[in-house]
Amino acid sequence: MNGVIQLAYFGVAVVFILGLKAMSSPVTARKGIVWAGYAMIAATLITFYTPGMQNYGLMITAIVLGGGVAWWSGRVVKMTDMPQMVAIYNGMGGGAAAAIAALEFARGGAHGVTATTLAVLGALIGSVAFSGSCIAFAKLQGIMTKAWRLPQQNLVNIVLAAVAVLLGLAIIVTETPPSAIVIAFFVVALALGVILTSPIGGADMPVVISLLNAFTGLAVGFEGYVLGNPALIVAGIVVGASGTLLTQLMAKAMNRPIKNVIFTPITGAAAGGGEAIEGSMKELSALDAASVMRYASKVVIVPGYGMAVAGAQHKVWEMAQLLEEGGVEVLFAIHPVAGRMPGHMNVLLAEAGVPYDKIFDMEEINSDFPQVDVALVIGANDVVNPVARTDKSSPIYGMPILNVDMAQNVIVVKRGQGAGYSGIENALFFRDNCRMLYGSAQQIIGEVITHVKALEV
Ligand code: NAP
Repeated sequence: MNGVIQLAYFGVAVVFILGLKAMSSPVTARKGIVWAGYAMIAATLITFYTPGMQNYGLMITAIVLGGGVAWWSGRVVKMTDMPQMVAIYNGMGGGAAAAIAALEFARGGAHGVTATTLAVLGALIGSVAFSGSCIAFAKLQGIMTKAWRLPQQNLVNIVLAAVAVLLGLAIIVTETPPSAIVIAFFVVALALGVILTSPIGGADMPVVISLLNAFTGLAVGFEGYVLGNPALIVAGIVVGASGTLLTQLMAKAMNRPIKNVIFTPITGAAAGGGEAIEGSMKELSALDAASVMRYASKVVIVPGYGMAVAGAQHKVWEMAQLLEEGGVEVLFAIHPVAGRMPGHMNVLLAEAGVPYDKIFDMEEINSDFPQVDVALVIGANDVVNPVARTDKSSPIYGMPILNVDMAQNVIVVKRGQGAGYSGIENALFFRDNCRMLYGSAQQIIGEVITHVKALEV
């Protein structure tokens, strides 16, 4: 029986990995999510048949509660609130791993040194992921508005980490650890998560969420070993590895080494006051925007977080199709960290029906901008800010950007003078070739559509 169960766990682990692999392409991403979901359901069902399993009532209650809340939140949470939902669910995973370890400590060192060591590691990493993710959630949800930093913050982090490791060692060497040590260990580990995450804000937040996600995966993998559950081990390691890769990709796309994300957070203001920005913002009307684009040869649309907030992707695609019918070549340029999570813009454009061959990554399209008649920036800001190329004192200096400022004409759709996620002013908006089209993206693109249609007559 045990062999069959292990084989079944192995099978679902393979399906789970294939599901994750399929998520790497927008074309197969939906299928991938479904496969991974079925694999998780199958793993849960297999647990029911595991010999020695008795707590069916408790298991069913947990599944109904957890599944119910996830089902409800998946349906009601807005696309733009996904990052905080990911943060809090990720925290739950870390917290669950830490809770498993707490139970194992309460049982005493029945499993031997290796298992207890892994339980301690899982508990430490899981607790940091739990409390850190709660802080990330509070920040993204606007519950916690200020990023606070302790004096000697990095020293405090090191001391807390050292104390947690010492308490963890005490748990490992003690056959049955006194509850005071276990409680102190968890308090310090949870405090470490809070203090590590509190100063981080602005554009670094999604990177931190991904890093905490990797932590959760590792913690779950360790606790899987403690429980002798191969599905947990595989799922934990896969999540840990993919979270680590994602963190690295995001950090690379922003040109921010992970150590800077954690130890030197972006504060919003340029360190030395920043380059003085010359010029003024110049407005244009929806009618003028429609004319400029209707009579252009090539228009490149650059979507950003504002398009997601406004839910304007369908209108944007409708406008693009109208322009194409008039003989204009229309392409889409995606920055790897546009929006609030990797692939955010790809998902929205795919949802609106934009064909994949019209969507280009930054490296593919960046050199084309000097030949582009109109770059239409819709609710993007940081990812098109030229100070990232020029101002060494800027917090986003070095982040690769879409070179829209090199286009012949730039039209920027946004509601007002609001800054981007990093909180800094955008030099693009003051350039001579740039015009501002003020309004919420869905409404203002709707107006542009009306004018483009009128121009056709
Ligand atoms: P952004 O810098 O956050 O700027 C969004 C702009 O949209 C704002 O300037 C805002 O200006 C405008 N806006 C908001 N609501 C709008 C609406 N209803 N209609 C029209 N415009 C609206 O966005 P981004 O250029 O996409 O940059 C993403 C940021 O997230 C970067 O700083 C990036 O580093 C960070 N980040 C993302 C990821 C990721 O995985 N995607 C990961 C790490 C970090 P108004 O308020 O004036 O309208």
